[in-house]
Amino acid sequence: RQLPGDGIEANYTRQVRGVCYSNAVPTPSTNPRLVHANAGAAALLDLNPSELATPEFVDVVSGCALHSTAKPIALTYAGHQFGSFAGQLGDGRAISLGEVVNHHGERWEMQLKGAGMTPYSRFADGRAVLRSSIREYMCSEAMNALGVPTSRALSLVVTDEKVVRETVEPGAIVCRLAQSWIRFGSFEHQFYFKQPKVLKRLVDYTITHHFPSYLETAMPGASDEDRYLAFYREVARRTAHTIALWQAVGFVGGVLNTDNFSILGLSIDYGPFAFMEAFDDDAVFNHTDSEGMYAYGRQPDVGHWNLSRLAIALSPVLEVERAREVLLEYPSMFHKAYVAKMRSKLGLLAALPDKDESDAALVKELLDAMQSQPGTTSGADWTIFFRTLSEAAPSLSATDEASQQQIEADSNLKLATTRARKALECMFQDEKVSSKWSAWRQKYTARLAEDSTAVREHSKLGGGLLLPGLSSSLDASSTALAIGLARRDVMKQHNPKYILRTWMAQKAIDAATANDFTVVDQLFKLLQRPYDDQPEFDDVYARQDTATGPVCLSCSS
Ligand code: AMP
Ligand code: MG
Ligand code: MG
Repeated sequence: RQLPGDGIEANYTRQVRGVCYSNAVPTPSTNPRLVHANAGAAALLDLNPSELATPEFVDVVSGCALHSTAKPIALTYAGHQFGSFAGQLGDGRAISLGEVVNHHGERWEMQLKGAGMTPYSRFADGRAVLRSSIREYMCSEAMNALGVPTSRALSLVVTDEKVVRETVEPGAIVCRLAQSWIRFGSFEHQFYFKQPKVLKRLVDYTITHHFPSYLETAMPGASDEDRYLAFYREVARRTAHTIALWQAVGFVGGVLNTDNFSILGLSIDYGPFAFMEAFDDDAVFNHTDSEGMYAYGRQPDVGHWNLSRLAIALSPVLEVERAREVLLEYPSMFHKAYVAKMRSKLGLLAALPDKDESDAALVKELLDAMQSQPGTTSGADWTIFFRTLSEAAPSLSATDEASQQQIEADSNLKLATTRARKALECMFQDEKVSSKWSAWRQKYTARLAEDSTAVREHSKLGGGLLLPGLSSSLDASSTALAIGLARRDVMKQHNPKYILRTWMAQKAIDAATANDFTVVDQLFKLLQRPYDDQPEFDDVYARQDTATGPVCLSCSS
């Protein structure tokens, strides 16, 4: 269906009250060209790959035509930005084309980001530039492949639109997907603009479509407030879980305002994000965040604070005192998810409940050794450290004479583990951290030995406390090396080799700006399998930014 011409009444910028969305029509862009389409995301819409190359597809995902069933809208929301209520925000450059319910019965909402102005564009142009669109497109799919809950990306289109930022840049449009684009800020809009009836309808809508286990039918006899409390608790749990995974992959969101927090606990609205390279608890990559409000180490607390804003927004339907119960549970929700994930990253295979606190302390001590020190090249690369630790695991686990001899006898294993152990030492060679590292390594190897004993013990008991998939391969007589090898394989499933480093995204952007989209495609493919060794890419992409990372020539011989 062709779009109506210019001057559409629906899109004029305004303050909107008492509704959850406004009609909005994409503004066609000039000369849209498909840069990339994602077969994996297309499958969520029951599209097959051949449909992605058609002119009709490009027309729809560039906002030049509408599907005959589309009812395009922009969502209404408000939000707290950097701690202060910012009033009405809303989809200023995102237009939802509609929802597709796929053959699994899943609902996916298609949104065009950068397809022109909406009622919520305020003082801006409704457009997005190629640079940030490439970053969102690639990062959302990289996060998905890492196992982090996230919006998805279906397609990336570049246009001849000249978009003015610091300089004039090419425009682009990402078609992105989520099961819902409702945000914490969606509820805040109805609360702060005093629309309790609309707020209740929005909560009921959200529960009906996205949290059906809290419906009256699923909780017969429960009061509305009990159902809302269950819903709020689940939002808190998902938020805690997602942020725990951000911490585990070293992701720094950049703009953790409540309008960028998904009610489904998804990572959304990728802006000035970064994957940390050298570990720094205070890492901030957003230049406008001069106070470090959204620094890496503060993300878990920001989740808590944002949930407290959501509690206030929900207060007309859920008493604040009851929501407070959940807020008090949030730190342990986060801690549980975080410690479980960090244990897997460290290759601790038996989840012994009485080790929760000491394992958390072990992680903390490691972070202390990894922390970048001002004025030095210390600060181990987060991703490379854990991947290297995984490769060293068989050797660090092989505490007995027989296991050590087995490693000696296997030249590949010997080479891989020796290299990994040397590389680890190299990361901590700076005198400010070297003693912290050796102290930690000793504790860690002792903890691994204890874990191996627990693995033998629990495999006898049926393996209930072991990470999934282990009990079949290990038994009470497994050697330290056999456990160490299993440990390495598990660790490699939790410690990615490839992440979207800022300089990698920049490389794709630079090429794309010169009309070469091969790097986008190459990185896209690489990051689809972040846990698999893809040695052909190691020299280029499995490394730190050479401009800032520790250059460690003395240890590379
Ligand atoms: P963000 O910080 O990117 O999540 O955006 C905050 C608000 O600004 C949201 O309401 C966005 O829709 C809006 N916004 C950001 N960039 C633009 C733009 N180029 N045109 C219109 N609205 C925008
Ligand atoms: Mg946003
Ligand atoms: Mg943004």
